[in-house]
Amino acid sequence: MPTVWKEYQEKNKERFLNEMLDLLRIPSISAKTEHKSDMQKCAELVKQRLLDSGCDKAEVMTTEGCPVVYGEKILDKSKPTVLVYGHYDVQPVEPLELWHSGPFEPTIKEGKIFARGSADDKGQFYMHVKALETMVKTNTLSTNIKFLIEGEEEIGSPNLGKFVKDHKQILKADVILISDSSLLSMENPSLDIGMRGLSYIEIEVTGPNRDLHSGTYGGAVANPITILAKMIASVHDENNHITIPGFYDDVATVPQEEREQMARAPYNEQHYKEDLGVTELWGEKGYTTSERTGIRPTLEVNGIWGGYSGEGAKTVLPSKASAKISARLVPNQSSEKITEILLQYFKKIAPPSVTVKASVHHGGEPYMTPIDSKGYKAASKAIETTFGKLPIPLRGGGSIPICTILEKELGVKIIFMGFGLDTDNLHSPNEKYDIQNFYKGIETIPYFHKYFAITETIG
Ligand SMILES: [Zn+2]
Repeated sequence: MPTVWKEYQEKNKERFLNEMLDLLRIPSISAKTEHKSDMQKCAELVKQRLLDSGCDKAEVMTTEGCPVVYGEKILDKSKPTVLVYGHYDVQPVEPLELWHSGPFEPTIKEGKIFARGSADDKGQFYMHVKALETMVKTNTLSTNIKFLIEGEEEIGSPNLGKFVKDHKQILKADVILISDSSLLSMENPSLDIGMRGLSYIEIEVTGPNRDLHSGTYGGAVANPITILAKMIASVHDENNHITIPGFYDDVATVPQEEREQMARAPYNEQHYKEDLGVTELWGEKGYTTSERTGIRPTLEVNGIWGGYSGEGAKTVLPSKASAKISARLVPNQSSEKITEILLQYFKKIAPPSVTVKASVHHGGEPYMTPIDSKGYKAASKAIETTFGKLPIPLRGGGSIPICTILEKELGVKIIFMGFGLDTDNLHSPNEKYDIQNFYKGIETIPYFHKYFAITETIG
């Protein structure tokens, strides 16, 4: 069986890649309403590609926001069903001047595809579409496959929960498979066994009722930017521990055994620093880098603004300053509870010289998947087959807020089989996806279906 897959993929690899590049040319930025028609256009193209690649049925389905694309290939109702989740929306591209080539003009350099969405997640979900084609065209499909490709992941999937609730029957599956994360490296494959949760808020600090002359009033009135900077700076102590009362209350302790296993994953601190252009790392005392980004909660300022930032100098004492602040959460923290703690905390620590408005963006719960499930075993075996090495189970630092909702509504576990790399510049300028990772994914995914069908049938 493998040779027919390999032969088929070898013969069609140029086309597979070109089809994916077409998707990357559509600026499907869900955060910006000006791209509404691009969202529709991208969804239509995904639908068409699902049909062309072997789905019996595919549809662009409306929601209150951006449409969802659903597709299915039902082989035999008695066979197990795999639901593939992915997203066709992408992050905004600013700052544009830092891109070496247009974010929506995919450019191939040294075997890497540079474009927004190349790794997150168009290039990754499209591997599943081409894996489906491989199995359908070579008559080797062993599972039913359903696709749920949404258009609002990057803004926190505000409408997907309702969509899933309303369409439980058509989405029914035995496992959910997601490729929207990374491998440790091509030499050391890994499988994510968890994702962190998220709490995201925005605060606005207001001082005087209007922008003031900094000569006339400076020194007499609190500057909201200074106050905001102080508030933010107070959130970490000298050990980079978060100082907000209650923040760590529900954090589950990770067993020593898991920490030891994590420590066995290859990690080169020098390369890590060099890649990021920093001379020293920063983080919570008492934890390693992979622990800081996997098993520990964090708090980051995602944006800060206020006052004058145009060309030249303007001596102003601004009326307002704002910041976007988010926390990554781990089991058993609750996104709702932490969001509330953050909102209250920033209001509480503000001095009486300013007023603070705090509001909520999106959130999501942390998620864990067990390594003894049939889905995990199938994924592990698939990786072992094509990489020649057993994958290391790792916790991912990112968040896919919809995970808990998918599991709750559909009652099945999620398997994270990502083929990206941490160096893919997700959400940053010059996002890229290595062509070899794209092909490796297409090569590996059919084995997941093969092994999952076997274990599901044996029981
Ligand atoms: Zn993504």
